[in-house]
Amino acid sequence: MKKLLFQQLTDSGCIVLTDEKMAEHTSFRIGGAADLIIPNSVEQLAAAVKIMKKHEMPYHVLGKGSNLLVSDDGIEEPVIWISSEMSDVALLDDHCIETLGGARLSYVAEFAAKNSLTGMEFAYGIPGSIGGAVVMNAGAYGGEMAGIVKKATVIDENGELMLLTNDDLDFSYRHSSIRDGMVVASVEIELQHGDEDQIRSYMQELQKRRVDKQPLQYPSAGSVFKRPEGFFAGKLIEDAGLKGYQIGGAAVSEKHAGFIINKGDATCADVLDLIRFIQNTVKEKFGILLECEIRHIGRGA
Ligand SMILES: Cc1cc2nc3c(=O)[nH]c(=O)nc-3n(C[C@H](O)[C@H](O)[C@H](O)COP(=O)(O)OP(=O)(O)OC[C@H]3O[C@@H](n4cnc5c(N)ncnc54)[C@H](O)[C@@H]3O)c2cc1C
Repeated sequence: MKKLLFQQLTDSGCIVLTDEKMAEHTSFRIGGAADLIIPNSVEQLAAAVKIMKKHEMPYHVLGKGSNLLVSDDGIEEPVIWISSEMSDVALLDDHCIETLGGARLSYVAEFAAKNSLTGMEFAYGIPGSIGGAVVMNAGAYGGEMAGIVKKATVIDENGELMLLTNDDLDFSYRHSSIRDGMVVASVEIELQHGDEDQIRSYMQELQKRRVDKQPLQYPSAGSVFKRPEGFFAGKLIEDAGLKGYQIGGAAVSEKHAGFIINKGDATCADVLDLIRFIQNTVKEKFGILLECEIRHIGRGA
């Protein structure tokens, strides 16, 4: 069944990689094997989704894997990887940028700076793709994708192109209207004119804050939990005495308690056990349920 599917995907121009270790495609460096489908254009992506639909084959979507926890036993369904094969970035007019979904956020922020466009500095240093950032409404230091996305071209579950405006995307905190099965193919970003030197110096300042505050020397998926209304997840975890707490190879970072780090040999099971332990401890001590921001996919998820 999969053999025929993969043959058709290859015939359509996609690259198919079977039994890829997801640990090599996620910032956590965790996860078993999966089959990756790599389109190199919007047309190929749409064709791939149509082929999946014809075979009634469910699938996942992967960007830079920086917000994902993948099961140790891997992922049964094929994964459409919006990779650097789909990462073109271009100036659309004097204040809008068009980018394919696989472009790195930091690269697009850098491109904006080079064109003296301000408004995207917040995204510099977030290690995701544009597509993943739209899905998650990624944000930092007072900015978020909701504030800069004008519209997005999305492939729906039938392989049809949809043009979604900022309103259609219905952004809220770490949320958008993009459902499982929909794929962000390209995004139009609207910025304002600014001074290149000022833009670059603000980007460097934000990057320095990341380096100072975040355990960037360890694999992680960034902040594990969403910010509960009126609180900071990291502060609650720290106040619960959990800094440094470790299960297997997964530990609460000493530098930023909102991060779980992989100390070298962490498994998905270690991270899930640690997440449950943190949630139970924080609930017991402060009566607050920490909701996961990172997404767990794969067998058993
Ligand atoms: C060190 C570190 C720091 C971080 N700092 C921040 C931060 O400051 N702010 C913040 O918001 N996040 C932060 N993150 C989390 C992460 O970088 C963001 O959530 C990012 O937007 C995820 O993008 P991605 O391409 O890696 O998505 P992935 O992790 O690959 O996927 C995340 C979700 O988006 C979906 N997806 C990905 N691409 C597409 C696409 N093209 N179309 C449809 N669905 C897609 C996936 O199916 C999945 O559900 C951090 C992570 C790390 C490791």
